Amino acid sequence: MGFADRYIHSLSASNLKDDERHHQTEPLMASAFAVANLTGDLGPLLHRVKFADSTARSAFEGNAGNLAQLLRLWTAEVTKRGRARRWVPENTAWDADAAQKLYRAVAEHSLAYWLDGKCDSCGGTGVEQARACRCCGGTGKAELTMAAGFVREHTLDMVSELHNIADNHAARAASKLRRSG
Ligand SMILES: [Zn+2]
Repeated sequence: MGFADRYIHSLSASNLKDDERHHQTEPLMASAFAVANLTGDLGPLLHRVKFADSTARSAFEGNAGNLAQLLRLWTAEVTKRGRARRWVPENTAWDADAAQKLYRAVAEHSLAYWLDGKCDSCGGTGVEQARACRCCGGTGKAELTMAAGFVREHTLDMVSELHNIADNHAARAASKLRRSG
């Protein structure tokens, strides 16, 4: 099972992993969540989830509470963006309900794909047995199989938004380091 599958699976998991290794990374995650909750800036959190050491990442993976919380924050972001860009009309109760479902689906798919959109065959390297990977054609990226049509279009859009948010955070953090050095 790839990370994206496990991610979606663990959203519905009822038992949280609770061993020593997972405890150690909890405070780090808690502080990243606090920043996101206070300022609405998901950058530090996304950065930590994706690029932190493997311990932090597996803690995140195993903790359905973290995933649910991240998804909640990201769904709010996607809703804001979807409304601003008028993806769908929201004039009637029925429209609003359908819009909510769309925002939620796009948020779930884009986050899962962003967290691990790597080709399974080559592990994201694009190379297999010294040739371009046949599965992904050398791009190293997995097919976005979980969404189609309208949802897929917005999902890809939000995947690049996630890249932007994380990249902006990395750039800000790097410039801070330079200034203090
Ligand atoms: Zn590949």
